[in-house]
Amino acid sequence: MDPRSPGPWPRVRRAEHGRADRRPARAVRNRAGLSAARAGGGRGATAESPLALKRRARKIHRVLAEAYPYAHAELDFRNPFELLVATVLSAQTTDVRVNQVTPELFRKYPDPRAMHEAELADIEEIIRPTGFFRAKARSVHHLSQKIVDEFDGAVPGRLEQLVTLPGVGRKTANVVLGNAFGVPGITVDTHFGRLARRFGWTGSEDPIVVERDVMELFERRDWTMLSHRVVFHGRRVCLSRNPACGACPVAPLCPSFGIGETDPGKARKLLRFELAPGREGLHAEMVANAASAASIRQRTEAAASAAAAGPVGGEPAGGPGSGPSGNRGLTNGGPGTGGTGDREVAQ
Ligand code: SF4
Repeated sequence: MDPRSPGPWPRVRRAEHGRADRRPARAVRNRAGLSAARAGGGRGATAESPLALKRRARKIHRVLAEAYPYAHAELDFRNPFELLVATVLSAQTTDVRVNQVTPELFRKYPDPRAMHEAELADIEEIIRPTGFFRAKARSVHHLSQKIVDEFDGAVPGRLEQLVTLPGVGRKTANVVLGNAFGVPGITVDTHFGRLARRFGWTGSEDPIVVERDVMELFERRDWTMLSHRVVFHGRRVCLSRNPACGACPVAPLCPSFGIGETDPGKARKLLRFELAPGREGLHAEMVANAASAASIRQRTEAAASAAAAGPVGGEPAGGPGSGPSGNRGLTNGGPGTGGTGDREVAQ
């Protein structure tokens, strides 16, 4: 076994500079039913069974939960209407930018009726910093009108109703359902789709298929928080072009380890912190987590080397992540544990 390999599943070839996002398709073929060897695993690689995939996926989720205990919807809102509008505005921009304009927007137009009666030009002026402000203003205006005309002024609480609103697709609908109505949902945005493919949870680029594949791996009650945690990770560590593999807390469980920078020191410099005002403390927390991740990798590599020196066998009992480079790598000082202890990551 390659001593740098994080687990018994195939490694994905390191990406060329700036092309990291195109590589994961090789790793996710497991999800599509192809053998690990065909997916690029090479000698010694084994196919991952559906059960092993589910176990590994849930372990990844547990690590992300430890790494991002503060994961949440990063858009500020006080009710379903505000979240719906904020989510529409968040297309092609950051949540931080949206949060800068929505206080003024909702102060002037606090509900669908007021928004519908607003001058389109005034909405445009307020939301201009979010980009594509004319199209977004039209969507916000029209969806407010439809909510008033067809839903008696209240944001509907069902997916099939939400997606009939102008500018609202499944992603936006799931955000609103999960965070404003408490209905579990997988939100497949660009970050979630990318990471689901890198994790090998899906082989598809189609958000609907991604959503369906991921739903099969997790309990329904976990869908909303899973979405937040994966998106947090995608925005801060597993970046589109420069994933910080060497500082990644889920590296021992990730078949795509190596598509980004694997040197812990260099990887830490790639970490991104999209901080909202008042959340500056997250930086120190992430740096601490990154240090833990580097420690994990060192132990993982040592365990993998020891395993390579021993007898060659099949997939360890418990599936990927349960062998020398899986569970054990995560149990010692996982993210948020301060780098001490021998705690088992519970199933
Ligand atoms: S940054 Fe982490 S999750 Fe992303 S590809 Fe690298 S090891 Fe996998």
